Amino acid sequence: MVNEHHTKCLPQQTSTTKLGENFSGNTLDNTIKEYDNPATLITREKREEYRKRELKTRVEGWQQHKRAGRFMEELNQNNINKEASLQWLKSDKFPFDEEQLIIAAQGQGLLTNGFKKMAGLQNTDQCRFCHSAVESPSHLMSGCKILLGDGHYTARHNKVCRYLHLKICGEMQLDRSLNIWVHETPPIKSNVKVTVFYDKDIQAGRYIKDKAIKSDMEPA
Ligand SMILES: [Zn+2]
Repeated sequence: MVNEHHTKCLPQQTSTTKLGENFSGNTLDNTIKEYDNPATLITREKREEYRKRELKTRVEGWQQHKRAGRFMEELNQNNINKEASLQWLKSDKFPFDEEQLIIAAQGQGLLTNGFKKMAGLQNTDQCRFCHSAVESPSHLMSGCKILLGDGHYTARHNKVCRYLHLKICGEMQLDRSLNIWVHETPPIKSNVKVTVFYDKDIQAGRYIKDKAIKSDMEPA
């Protein structure tokens, strides 16, 4: 009677039989044959199967998502280190809302003009700074000539270099600050074993476009 009631009368989210089917998929049939095993072992195994299946479904859903799936495409390119690109999520240093914001930016889900036009909220999708390209998170983060001209990208680039410099100094046993915000990056730093140059012009024998003659860092 209980079975019949749960199967026929109750909705998906409260019916035990329906929930059971949902969570077990088609693995329940085998369970009956395995009654010699302790129930906890069977449950643990089924839970693991469910976890893997659910994970696979979510990854596929992400991949197939028209907007958010683009980040997945970028991640799978040959020149991208997938593991390192996702390392920040494993480090557990960001609170939930900051993590959410970064993920939204990666999935092109921020409320930019491009997004607003797509959602039918306004007629223009042009960038609010340069007015000459579609405003998307990627455009704002690295493709806008006005933001580049204002030095936002360079400032961010230099912050990353400063962090790398701090780490390299640590590796090479050069004296360094304990905290990144007080660490300084002199053009040359050395000890008996190694010299680290920072923001140094490379002697080039020919003209190099955009004066790209500075390596960020150069241990020698
Ligand atoms: Zn722009």
